[in-house]
Amino acid sequence: KRTPLVAGNWKMNLTRAAAGALIGEMKPLLKDASCEVALCVPFTDLEAAGAAMAGSRIRLGAQNCHWAASGAFTGEISADMLRELGVAYVIIGHSERRQYFGESDQTVNARAKAALSAGLRVILCVGETLEQREAGEMEAVIRRQMAGALEGITGEQLREMVIAYEPVWAIGTGKTATAAQAGEVCGLIRSFLAEHYGAEAADGMRIQYGGSMNAKNAAELLAQKDIDGGLIGGASLKAPDFAAIVAAAK
Ligand code: 13P
Repeated sequence: KRTPLVAGNWKMNLTRAAAGALIGEMKPLLKDASCEVALCVPFTDLEAAGAAMAGSRIRLGAQNCHWAASGAFTGEISADMLRELGVAYVIIGHSERRQYFGESDQTVNARAKAALSAGLRVILCVGETLEQREAGEMEAVIRRQMAGALEGITGEQLREMVIAYEPVWAIGTGKTATAAQAGEVCGLIRSFLAEHYGAEAADGMRIQYGGSMNAKNAAELLAQKDIDGGLIGGASLKAPDFAAIVAAAK
């Protein structure tokens, strides 16, 4: 039995003070959660968010990290820097990074390896665009992204990863994939994992859905057999909405 992971991705929202206040509001609402809960916050909020989460079951997460341990990489943050701040999870390969910051399957792979080496858990994002879906390329795109991101990653390392299926056309658009569509792709991802790492490893992996998941549609999405939680953008910026999604994940 897989324990679902519901993770908020705050993206580039909330200053330190606002982060602390929102976590304060969330804490009492999340105390009876039966799934695992994480919040992936901006780098500058990590320390304050970590302090605000103390004594709760919320885990601290970041939204990216660099592939090198240190060096001349102006503007970047290493996995060790995150680890030192108490970060447990890091999102790697989010579609916004692929779209706007030149992230490729190769850099996603390198970043994931660095995060794993530093002892972080990785939330690896994959997902097709609307154009790719309409051209009938969804499965090929997902397979290419999975193969690229997991190149050289061992079965042991895979256990420290969570896969997030986020169709690009459903992110921030209010246009959610239907439960059947989301469940189908999460099933394809699990088959890919079974082919490459064996059925047992695939069976133990958590696969999240992300893209306009909200308090209303969460239960139906999470009821799909291959969906083990959610990666939540907009709805993770509101305590009652996020809490409702967490409550729907059992
Ligand atoms: P929304 O929930 O705002 O659509 O964002 C999803 C997402 O990109 C989470 O990483």
